Amino acid sequence: PPFNRELSTAAHRMEEQPNFASLIEDLQRKEAKHVWHPMTQQRSWSCDESKPPAAVHYAHNSTLYSLDGSTKLDAMGGLWCVNVGYGREELARVAYDAMVQLPFLSPAHGSIPQIELATKISDLLDWSAPAHAYFTASGSEANEAAFKIARQFHAANVEQDPSGPLRYKIISRHRAYHGNTAGAMAATGQAERKIGFGPQPPGYIKVGTPYPYRSRETEAQHGLDLAASLDETIRMEGAETVAAFICEPITSGGGVLVPPENYLKEVRKVCDDHGVLLILDEVVSGFGRTGAMFGHHHYGVTPDIVTLAKGLTSGYQPLGACVVSDRVFANFHDCPDAVHQGKVASTLPPRLAHLRSINTYGGHPVACAVGLRNIEIVEREGLVERAAEMGAFLKRTLEEAIGAHKHVGEVRGRGLLVGVELVADRDTKTPLDDDACGAIVRRCADAGVVVGRNASTVPGLGNVLILAPPFVIEEHECARVAETLRAALDA
Ligand code: PLP
Repeated sequence: PPFNRELSTAAHRMEEQPNFASLIEDLQRKEAKHVWHPMTQQRSWSCDESKPPAAVHYAHNSTLYSLDGSTKLDAMGGLWCVNVGYGREELARVAYDAMVQLPFLSPAHGSIPQIELATKISDLLDWSAPAHAYFTASGSEANEAAFKIARQFHAANVEQDPSGPLRYKIISRHRAYHGNTAGAMAATGQAERKIGFGPQPPGYIKVGTPYPYRSRETEAQHGLDLAASLDETIRMEGAETVAAFICEPITSGGGVLVPPENYLKEVRKVCDDHGVLLILDEVVSGFGRTGAMFGHHHYGVTPDIVTLAKGLTSGYQPLGACVVSDRVFANFHDCPDAVHQGKVASTLPPRLAHLRSINTYGGHPVACAVGLRNIEIVEREGLVERAAEMGAFLKRTLEEAIGAHKHVGEVRGRGLLVGVELVADRDTKTPLDDDACGAIVRRCADAGVVVGRNASTVPGLGNVLILAPPFVIEEHECARVAETLRAALDA
């Protein structure tokens, strides 16, 4: 592979070893013995002859290079996060400089990169008032913070809303994935992700997710129906007990589902009617993935809280953020005068009115410096526009190659967030069975193309192939993805 030898010195040293093959095997043996991978059945490595694939040691643009000389086109962009593509030396140098300058600072203090990044995010969100960022180290923690902030916001809101202190419930959607920590997992639907981990914390309620392909209504009616069902759920739960509703603007892991155009606006209205905060999880959709800087920019809706991660640094550093509106921020106020003047009528003593949550690595100066430069690259190279254009090209290419295939129900998505729903029968829309879907993904991998899939037997989850490549993917690479999928489907 045309890799930069300076940058991949470890691999360089290995390639010069005369017993290179045995080094690969040694790594495979140690990996099978000592590394526990997520969402992977590894026991088979110790019971049969199989072993982990040769380690990936280098990546450039959209391609992964393994020690055994094989390459893979990464049509999943890592975990839909490597938006600017692999191998950006510029980001490595920024990280180096930032670490030399300030390797760590307590998140209770403002490092220059943290201050600049929070300001940049506020500018990009382009809400009518300044936004305020609480940094974390991951998307799960950003959602966790959002739930705490929503509850504490209401506790401090008795003046405007006497039921504030009673509001603790979080409503989310059955198809949602919001993360792996306790609260984020409780807000996650997709039961298979939680089996064996119960009991779940109480107070997390689920409603339906827009799914136009499987709805019998017009898109507009489907949007209205789902918003009406949210409205009914809030009423039945008791609006005075509900703190927030959380959803992704465009569902990613839950089946790549683009909602009807009217859905988010209707949801915003329902939330406003009941004094419920709207949290938008933009961990996947943020920073250009759907062809707009943020998913909610497509729909003319402003949330109260937005959560971010992944594309914030393009995965080059672990970083998340929970960003709140000025109205939400204003309620975290311990100024005795404000309490005295009745501006804040919190149930909390004023000395506890600030957000009492902390992450050691939240807003890490190195991660924030990388995040800032990553956003600069996205803007400088027009990558949001490119995601929109290449996304349209990828969808068109897929339509031509497999749109009429008997096992393809729908090709859908927005920007470079694309899903292919596989069916056994196009008329009945019966999902293609789990084994066949798994085999298709494996065939693509064997042919050198990484395609994603939610490991689930639930219709609309496991039978949807996921494509979320880096924004720098080229047209010929999109064509290769489509061709590889067609061959895998035929097989
Ligand atoms: N929210 C969404 C929509 C996600 O897809 C994910 C992860 O894939 C998360 C939250 C959790 O983010 P993290 O894995 O960084 O904790």
